[in-house]
Amino acid sequence: MPGKQAVQTICPFCGVGCGMHLLVDDQNRVAAVSPQGDHPISRGKLCAKGWSTPFAIEPGDRIRQPLIRTDDGFRPASWDEALEVIRYGLLDILSQLGPTAVGVISSARASNEDNYAAQKFARAVLGTNNIDHCARICHSPTVAGLKQTLGSGAMTNSAADIDSAEVLVVWGADATENHAILGGHIIEAKLRGATLIVVDPRRTRLAKLADLHLQVKPGTNILLVNALLHEIFRHGWQNQDFLDSRCEGADALRKSVRDTSPTQLADAIGVPAEQIEAMARTYGQANSAMILYGMGITQFVSGTFNVMALSNLALSCGQIGRPGTGINPLRGQNNVQGACDMGCLPNVYPGYQDVADPAVRQHVSDYWQCPLPDHTGLTSMGMTQAALRGEFKGLILFGEDPVVTDPDQNEVLASLKALDLLVVAELTMTETARHAHVVLPAASFAEKNGTFTNCERRVQRIHQAIPPVGEALGDWQWLGAIARQLGSSSLDWTNSQAVFDEMAGMTPSYSGMSYEKLARQHGLQWPCDDAAPEGTPTLHQTEFPIGRARLIPVHHVDIDEPADADYPLQLTTNRLHFHYGCGSMSRKSPLLERETPDGILFISPEDARNLRLKNHSAIGIRSRRGYLETRAIITDDLPPGLVSMPYHFSEAPSNQLTNRAMDPVSKMPELKVCAVRITPLPEG
Ligand code: SF4
Repeated sequence: MPGKQAVQTICPFCGVGCGMHLLVDDQNRVAAVSPQGDHPISRGKLCAKGWSTPFAIEPGDRIRQPLIRTDDGFRPASWDEALEVIRYGLLDILSQLGPTAVGVISSARASNEDNYAAQKFARAVLGTNNIDHCARICHSPTVAGLKQTLGSGAMTNSAADIDSAEVLVVWGADATENHAILGGHIIEAKLRGATLIVVDPRRTRLAKLADLHLQVKPGTNILLVNALLHEIFRHGWQNQDFLDSRCEGADALRKSVRDTSPTQLADAIGVPAEQIEAMARTYGQANSAMILYGMGITQFVSGTFNVMALSNLALSCGQIGRPGTGINPLRGQNNVQGACDMGCLPNVYPGYQDVADPAVRQHVSDYWQCPLPDHTGLTSMGMTQAALRGEFKGLILFGEDPVVTDPDQNEVLASLKALDLLVVAELTMTETARHAHVVLPAASFAEKNGTFTNCERRVQRIHQAIPPVGEALGDWQWLGAIARQLGSSSLDWTNSQAVFDEMAGMTPSYSGMSYEKLARQHGLQWPCDDAAPEGTPTLHQTEFPIGRARLIPVHHVDIDEPADADYPLQLTTNRLHFHYGCGSMSRKSPLLERETPDGILFISPEDARNLRLKNHSAIGIRSRRGYLETRAIITDDLPPGLVSMPYHFSEAPSNQLTNRAMDPVSKMPELKVCAVRITPLPEG
């Protein structure tokens, strides 16, 4: 674009990690974006959200300086004053209750450098493993499940493999809405002749194009996998060589699915046995079959078992360790993979190194030159619960809005009100920031250098395009300033490259990376080390990190809250193509906002008829946890008995309704299904 400087960076929205240029005008504002033509994933394209990036960082309503809470709102303050309040607040809590009473929630939207700093701040400065982020409510079961079965909790293959897979299975993921560029690759692959199978309770856009759509009842994923495995073993479609040479537990798995035939389970799953048989035949006989999955797998009380079930399916058929195969979680936010890799989880250091392992802890302690806590910390939900019990008093949070995104909003609000110190660093005033004692002005991705790691483990550089707005600071910088207030110099880096180099020095899977190497190409996929200096597009080609992969039989777990006479409909959650997360970025765009301006509920024609609803009728929705009002959109994309709501809208927050019952392994709340009652409201 003439007259504008183009700065190469990565889209700040979803985990696909599309390459873009920020076009900066002579007023130092990001005036527009353009796609990187040679980017290996986005290939010269961006979706509607990517094109709207300038609105997300627009300085208009940005927080420009620190704010301190007063009796009737906030007053502007200097950084020194804000840091002083934070210092006194933290020292007070630490002296009274110790380090278990404080914690940090970092951000899947922030860079790897920011996330590395956040977990180091929690562990080395505050002395606690109470560090978590929003992966808890998207893919924590992936990390827990695949770690057990394969030894590594990440996408096994690359986005480019969509082009070469003979069969694509999209399971509980709405890729055209949430990962639009990747969804486009799936459509192109289907048009070129790949077989597309979709498993989803909703008739998504991809389901309408699919060769086979299994419109399962919510919460029946394990039943379906076990029925498929029954059929695969019955016909001898398993890859016996692969099972014999690379896996353990095949006999036990085979025995566990002896009585799970498609005919026996079809009614419970909600699809005809013939469809299950057809899917087993197609997947079981494919030369290359790739599973792509989303939160329709993870957001259940059985989330970790669901992931392990998918792993059983892929391993049994030898569909792993080769291009065009694998188990591939589609990560939601731009850097949710990186935030996990950086150790922003209460049980692992960077690179998934176990905090409970004394040898690992000693190694990290030596590297950081400080003592470290020896017990696993609290998850984000654990911090909520501990705050309600009065055991957790101080929270530092950035780039997240749990009031909108976490289940059971009323409980989240009560827990925030129970804190003695809530520090929120944000771009704009979010629902959560409104409850903070101190609000800090954070720098947007366009104002800082660093790296993001996308869903296919590709670490990519982001470059500073504009100066920070107002007095905003990058997250590793303000965390360093708080650390200095507490007498620690352990976050005293001079630039983001120094943060990255320190991180790479203790993170085996990143050990072969440097800014210089990342700049030479479009990033590197981990593991990138001495054995794989150019990165690893396909994991597990010759061996698994745990030696042999583990087949672990898993059995159906009932959803926590089925529909009943009082709450006769099941509510599931979905996302919309034009919005993202809590809406704090996408809703700044008048173009995106024009498409879907506020909350809606999707309902089947049959249920709408029974409730005497018309399209756009005003409705009230009640669950056992809350009530909200919105409008109904009638669609035959949903079966009778199931309604669906996006969670992007604070004026109709679906998380007023959702259930916090958790997967016992990963602590993932069951966001994908709860029971609700709908009442028509008078129009007015
Ligand atoms: Fe950005 Fe995701 Fe859209 Fe790509 S698909 S442009 S990363 S929002």
